[in-house]
Amino acid sequence: MLMSYVLAKSKDSAILEAGECGGAVTSIFKYLLDEGIVDGVLAVRPGVDIYDGVPTLITDSEDLISTASSYHCAPTLMTDLIQTYFADKKIAVSVKPCDIRSMDEMMKRHKINPDNVYTVGLNCGGTVSPITGRQMIDLFYDINPDDVVSEEIDKGQFIVELADGTEKGVKIHDLEEEGYGRRNNCQRCSVKIPRKANIACGNWGAEDGWTFIEINDEKGQELIDAARNAGYIETKNPSEKSIEARSKVEGIMIKMSEKVQDATYVDTVAMEDWNRCIGCYACRDICPVCWCFENCELNKPYFKDELNIPPSPIAFQGIRLSHMSFSCCNCGQCEDVCPMDIPVSLIFDKMQKKYCERTGYVAGVTDDIKPPLYSPEKTEL
Ligand SMILES: Cc1cc2nc3c(=O)[nH]c(=O)nc-3n(C[C@H](O)[C@H](O)[C@H](O)COP(=O)(O)OP(=O)(O)OC[C@H]3O[C@@H](n4cnc5c(N)ncnc54)[C@H](O)[C@@H]3O)c2cc1C
Ligand code: SF4
Ligand code: SF4
Ligand code: SF4
Repeated sequence: MLMSYVLAKSKDSAILEAGECGGAVTSIFKYLLDEGIVDGVLAVRPGVDIYDGVPTLITDSEDLISTASSYHCAPTLMTDLIQTYFADKKIAVSVKPCDIRSMDEMMKRHKINPDNVYTVGLNCGGTVSPITGRQMIDLFYDINPDDVVSEEIDKGQFIVELADGTEKGVKIHDLEEEGYGRRNNCQRCSVKIPRKANIACGNWGAEDGWTFIEINDEKGQELIDAARNAGYIETKNPSEKSIEARSKVEGIMIKMSEKVQDATYVDTVAMEDWNRCIGCYACRDICPVCWCFENCELNKPYFKDELNIPPSPIAFQGIRLSHMSFSCCNCGQCEDVCPMDIPVSLIFDKMQKKYCERTGYVAGVTDDIKPPLYSPEKTEL
């Protein structure tokens, strides 16, 4: 796989101002839309408040500015949206590592055509659930959550800003010690740079006002060259020191996640947890790598009784597990939606890791080993 590094910044002053780092991502999207290379850009914009990130399809490049910046309370996923609504469209999309991991799994299942998507990756230290975000600001910042106008994560702190420019930050570590901060799955997530995306963008190793970009494949290289040649971004080479600094932070973040894995994987979900399951199907419906839809085994009459009662927790989760144990991307969505507070993502992620220990396969990351059941070879056969 091709891999090179570049620092980039927008040549549009409004985008540079609005962007999280150098506004390179927004400008690259603008280039793709203006040139008619894509039909739309799928990105995120703030909704009713800063704790609300709304996935949005932009088709007029003038509107892209409303999506610039990083929304850390937006644990939304793009995979389902692309395969459900835009499978036959040319789309550029911003992707966190769990987005691209699930997309990669869907590409392997021929549900998303890689030729139809430009994947612009964002490195990811983690997302905070919107509700937790509001609660922790109330509790730890002594600030009314409604008074916050923006948030950012910098140097290990979750920082909020008020309308008068005042900022207050609290260490994420301290918030997490008290059960707040990043979502549980993010705390144990060890894929921090989306290397399956065409490019991976971030602030690690970047100079102020620039976006650090890792170019992952030829499509990514062509995109950067074309956006620069068309005057949308300027680029320069990062110093060796910047590259090293970035790699060091990535290593530290991975070690921290592995510590959390060691601490949490031991807590296997107990039977009383599973027994709380009411078979509401929410975890299945939200899962970006569950794709059988109407053919799902869980809808089959032999798994429901004459009153149409859903399968028992054991059958329900057993079937899900038989699919998820090799394809779970630890996106945490199932746990976010579970009305019975069952740590669903923890168990599926743990099973994926066990599967990896035996086969070397990491869902949405591994290239050279095909997942079972859904490999292209099987489809061809
Ligand atoms: C939740 C989160 C955590 C991050 N953590 C790190 C980190 O630890 N280390 C690091 O190096 N970089 C991290 N980044 C990436 C960094 O913050 C910048 O997004 C990146 O450097 C690009 O900057 P830019 O100015 O070029 O992007 P911009 O021009 O500001 O464009 C950013 C694009 O990302 C989209 N976006 C914003 N929030 C989300 C979201 N939640 N999900 C999907 N798309 C989104 C926006 O809609 C926009 O299209 C994180 C980003 C996010 C969203
Ligand atoms: S699971 Fe990983 S990639 Fe996804 S939001 Fe959490 S930290 Fe980011
Ligand atoms: S099982 Fe849960 S954590 Fe795993 S990919 Fe599906 S929704 Fe995400
Ligand atoms: S979301 Fe929770 S309660 Fe609903 S089916 Fe899944 S595990 Fe059971």
